[in-house]
Amino acid sequence: MKKAALIILLAFSLPTAALASMDATESGQETKKSAKSKKKKPKPITTAKAKKAIANFKAVAAKVEPIGEQICRSFHKNKPRKTCDFLIKVNNDGNQKANAFQSLGKDGRPVITFNINKLLKVRNNDEIVFVLGHEFGHQIAQHIQKTRIHQEQGMLLGNAIYSDDDDKDKGKRVGKFHAMVTYSKEFELEADVIAVHITDRAGFDAGRGSRDLKRLRGGSSQWYSTHPPSPRRIQRVKKELGKIRAAKARGKVAPIVW
Ligand SMILES: [Zn+2]
Repeated sequence: MKKAALIILLAFSLPTAALASMDATESGQETKKSAKSKKKKPKPITTAKAKKAIANFKAVAAKVEPIGEQICRSFHKNKPRKTCDFLIKVNNDGNQKANAFQSLGKDGRPVITFNINKLLKVRNNDEIVFVLGHEFGHQIAQHIQKTRIHQEQGMLLGNAIYSDDDDKDKGKRVGKFHAMVTYSKEFELEADVIAVHITDRAGFDAGRGSRDLKRLRGGSSQWYSTHPPSPRRIQRVKKELGKIRAAKARGKVAPIVW
């Protein structure tokens, strides 16, 4: 990490909230969004349409969960069982913008949360499975854990650089933010790669499922964005689909490498 890169950050207002979760396919403004949505009272959506969407999601998630967990266990054989014991939830607060994310529960279990606006926005089950696969991917590749380590390293370095600053927390904030934006774009691409495999192995269409990426805004190749631009994500998905098809043509199963 270079000092110059850290200084550029001072031009931005730095988010102080911790990155406690890996968000899914929405723009990289998750921290600001959640801060805003916290102020508003939750507005549960309980329409017949919402109930139907939740019932459908549960049925789809029930098909994907064993496959995601099995793949997870294949990579984390020596870790505690909870590492791959996923909890899949729906938040029916209509005040939240469409989103899905992975977090870690207090008990250390990975949690995948879809909110109701996300469920009302998806066009088909392939899209649901792709986003689910993406969130499984964040845990399989241990992105929250890696982000924490990177942020701690960033905070130590930031503290050293800004040790003389009047604002005693500046170094911490700058270092933490730097760590977050440096790695998160690559993590999103890795989660997409794993999502392609999970979607395919669950019997859904990963090409169709990833079309949602085309409608997304907010991703950027700029260094301070947390999400890569959509064309880069689509390109990576296509490449992975090609590998899966080629392996199938030889009667094999493509290995998951991210
Ligand atoms: Zn993500």
